[in-house]
Amino acid sequence: MRARRFVRSSLTGVGLVTLLSFERGFAKHSSMSKRLVLLATTVCFVFALIAASAQETPMPAAPAGIQQNVQALDPAAATQAWLATLRKSQREKSDAYFEGGYWLILWNFLLTAAISIFLLASRISARLRDFSQRLTRFNALQTACYALPYLLIVYVLSFPLNLYENFFREHQYGLATQNFLPWFREQLIGFIIAIIGGTVLLVLLYAVFRRAPRTWWIWGTFVVVVFMFIITFIAPVFIDPLFNTYKPLTNPEIRDPILAMARANQIPVKQVFEVDASRQTTRVSANVAGVLGTTRIALNDNLLKQCTLPEIREVMAHEMGHYVLNHGAKLLTYFGIFVLIGFALTRALFDAAVGRWGNKWGIRGIADPAGLPLLVLILGTLIFLATPFLNTVVRVTEREADAFGINTSREPDGMAKVALKLGAYRKLDPTPLEEFIFFDHPSGRSRIRMAMDWKAAHLPAGE
Ligand SMILES: [Zn+2]
Repeated sequence: MRARRFVRSSLTGVGLVTLLSFERGFAKHSSMSKRLVLLATTVCFVFALIAASAQETPMPAAPAGIQQNVQALDPAAATQAWLATLRKSQREKSDAYFEGGYWLILWNFLLTAAISIFLLASRISARLRDFSQRLTRFNALQTACYALPYLLIVYVLSFPLNLYENFFREHQYGLATQNFLPWFREQLIGFIIAIIGGTVLLVLLYAVFRRAPRTWWIWGTFVVVVFMFIITFIAPVFIDPLFNTYKPLTNPEIRDPILAMARANQIPVKQVFEVDASRQTTRVSANVAGVLGTTRIALNDNLLKQCTLPEIREVMAHEMGHYVLNHGAKLLTYFGIFVLIGFALTRALFDAAVGRWGNKWGIRGIADPAGLPLLVLILGTLIFLATPFLNTVVRVTEREADAFGINTSREPDGMAKVALKLGAYRKLDPTPLEEFIFFDHPSGRSRIRMAMDWKAAHLPAGE
């Protein structure tokens, strides 16, 4: 699944990711909302904890009688043997890359907070609002006139970190294939999309804030979920082609085994797409994008070049898992719950902050666009705190797709080899706590262990 990554990557840097992402919190006013929020928080916590513990539960050994006729395989030892096939220097490099990402989560949060506080305390935000009010008397246009310069300022101020994180650092670890100019051109395209999407979203949200200053967090959740749905729907058709070329996979030796798995699972696709990801990166990956009529399964050219057929079948079976298990709709639902809780908490925090600093910053209330940096500051903080839970929600669906993938492709060794290749950019053997906090996919070790457990079980084929 790449919808979330898309939203993050294209809108991070303009600070808007905070509005499109998902958080949790606590409301203080009505007792109904309080109960709703408590319930949802509890559900999220329980869900996250069950998921975290489930992933670390060792598999019970099969009763002795069942293993009599088959060659015994010790899944734990087999997992270690796979991990040991990588050179120490490779492991150290990918660990350093991935662990650096932990710090980047912190730096990005601190930068968002610093920019927000700067715009509030300097009263630049209030002046932008005054400027937009002089330009037009229509509320929706005032919001747009505030949003455009706001997004531009935030993008420019966060550009240095963006440049380091997404250009220099990627080159430093040998993951990027683009020179500066093509990279920068794509940044600008992404920024224009973010400006258009961000302005539309803000105009809609501020219309809600003006009409429902007390219950905006409920209607606002609805707006955000519908917005995320539409972005997911149009992305494969209108957005992805701006960055990459998608063409049907024509090699029958690769295509036909993939389509056979699709038929076996009643997935109504007639073709599989190949995307030229090597334009930007050396990473091996595949994705399912879109919803309803725009769903498309694609594998990237790095995968085609670097992997054997068993590995490709395993990856594509994983992507089919996302489709069959209806992960698009499920993730949208989970994120909707996060947004609802986050907005409820934001409502209380925003009103408290305006009560205290409203005069100093020149903010009149939730419906005043000058309060946008405060909204971003609060939501950004909540998202930062919710990182482990957001990652866990995504990682759990990825683990489900892995289970579907191994059962459909029946390629345990292929799965182990792919897990090692993904280890180029994802730490292979983290601690359980590290995996819980930072991993939005299972670690390589978890994936290889799943493959080896599957292999050791020797399931009958049932011909
Ligand atoms: Zn996946």
